Amino acid sequence: MVSEKSEQRIFQGIAASPGIVIGEVRVADRSRVVVVESSVSDDEIPAEIGRFHEALRRTKEDLLALKEQISRTRGAEHLYVIDTHLMILEDAMLTSGTIGCIEREKVNAEAALKRTLRKFKEFFEGIEDEYLRERSSDVETVVERILRNMLGKRHELLPETEGRVVIVAHDLSPADILQIDKEKVIGFVTDLGGRTSHTAIVARSLEIPAVVGLERITGEVSDGDPVIVDGAKGLVILNPDTETFRDYLRNKQFYEYRERELLKLRDLPSETPDGHRVLLKGNVEFLEEVPSIRKHGGEGIGLYRTEMLFLGRTAVPDEEEQFRAYVEVIRRMAPYPVTIRTLDVGGDKFVSDLNLEDELNPAMGLRAIRLSLRCPDLFKTQLRAILRASVEGKVKVFFPMISGVGEIRAAKSLFEEAKEELRRASVPFDENIEIGIMIETPSAVIIADLLAREVDFFSVGTNDLIQYSLAIDRTNEHLSHLYEPLHPAVLRSLKMVADAAHAAGISVCMCGEMAGEPTYLPILLGFGYDELSMNAVSIPKVKKILRRCSKSEAEVLAAKVLSFCTADEVESYLQSRIATRFSESFD
Ligand code: PEP
Ligand code: MG
Repeated sequence: MVSEKSEQRIFQGIAASPGIVIGEVRVADRSRVVVVESSVSDDEIPAEIGRFHEALRRTKEDLLALKEQISRTRGAEHLYVIDTHLMILEDAMLTSGTIGCIEREKVNAEAALKRTLRKFKEFFEGIEDEYLRERSSDVETVVERILRNMLGKRHELLPETEGRVVIVAHDLSPADILQIDKEKVIGFVTDLGGRTSHTAIVARSLEIPAVVGLERITGEVSDGDPVIVDGAKGLVILNPDTETFRDYLRNKQFYEYRERELLKLRDLPSETPDGHRVLLKGNVEFLEEVPSIRKHGGEGIGLYRTEMLFLGRTAVPDEEEQFRAYVEVIRRMAPYPVTIRTLDVGGDKFVSDLNLEDELNPAMGLRAIRLSLRCPDLFKTQLRAILRASVEGKVKVFFPMISGVGEIRAAKSLFEEAKEELRRASVPFDENIEIGIMIETPSAVIIADLLAREVDFFSVGTNDLIQYSLAIDRTNEHLSHLYEPLHPAVLRSLKMVADAAHAAGISVCMCGEMAGEPTYLPILLGFGYDELSMNAVSIPKVKKILRRCSKSEAEVLAAKVLSFCTADEVESYLQSRIATRFSESFD
């Protein structure tokens, strides 16, 4: 295993799925089909269009067969990926775009499809949201399948593997990942991809360690090279030397031991030693993530980001499609509750149906509830779908980016209209469905007492609240040192919001990334947060601290952190007090 000939080399990529694996490289040649462009005469156009339709038909057959295979081997919860690909295959922008291009430009079908793909990519590149931008790789995967069918090439499966290998590829589609035999493929590494790419999300849900976004790793490796993948740190170590190998062997054993220990907490109550309960829930974008929440002991979904249904397509999903998607998530999570957030996207960049204008400053533009209120039909369609799904389990609904009481009242009035429409049509729904809002703007913090009178619960979105309070773009890597969750302004805001909620007798949840940081648990407990919603793997880590920190101790700690002047002071206090006090819980 340890390399005797080659030098050890370390590559830093994006940590896509945690875990440490040690194995051998197996390079998967996922090179793209080469398309040769040729012109066609007017007479040949119908035949070219016919070839394109035939390739679409075969691709659909392939995808349906793959879906069948995956449902047998992996279970139904992973089929969403293939459904997305089937949806893309039927997208009018792709099909009509290609046919229009054959007719207008008089080029062969392959070239027309490639040109249409380029347009798709330009469309996706302008999207600021990383998650939505990543959907362009799904379109590329589908186009590659169509091209292979047009050129009579098989869509290669992953290489046959022996032993336990780490697949290294330029890119892998989520469908590739779903076909992986976990006994043989222990990890994967790719040139392309980001943390929120479908591929990374599927890898996390299947718990296969992965590092993505390494840019040129495929050019640096050969079959059989010894490799270590550290999926939590985003590191790939080629030809590890003896010392590194030994260190990682120890790290791996320790990591696996700690994971097993943490999972033992799964069925223990999430409560403090003095009997105070805090509900720990999971955040999801996809159906595939629900099993992981259950496995890690989450007591429901505290944030279901519904954006995923609207992305990578030119037309918004209709009520029926949304309804079916919500029902699936609710049924899988039952008997635990699901809190569904209404659409939080920026507008035309994602859904061309809406015909909105480009904005100079989209983070402060027509996003989230502002967009929903501007497009009441779109909003009511989603509300009806949520309401109809509400009879399938315990469902709550909440609105993102609220900045004033007027927005809540407008949203509630449309919600009432949606209910009335269902009543008139005798469609059942939960008449007592709770509604809440996200607190993620400074104005919402300042008037939290006024907002609390209007709703059943608050959920604090710290990702945006920090961005807007400190005026720091959450996606700008050059400003990341200024993006301070422990800034006194943020801490005071969190306390004010919790106090305002409790004074009005409503509950307060946190669903931003801060909720999943175990070191912050004593502060949030001390401020009185009733629920914390986070990525699934953080749930047992947070629970571990919760079960060791009494409410009274947390209140003292929380009061203390409010006395500091800078985030650095708070941080060093946390390091010296909390990390020491719970040292073994942070190992
Ligand atoms: C947040 O802003 O903290 C949040 C949970 O919402 P999102 O990350 O989806 O903007
Ligand atoms: Mg937000």
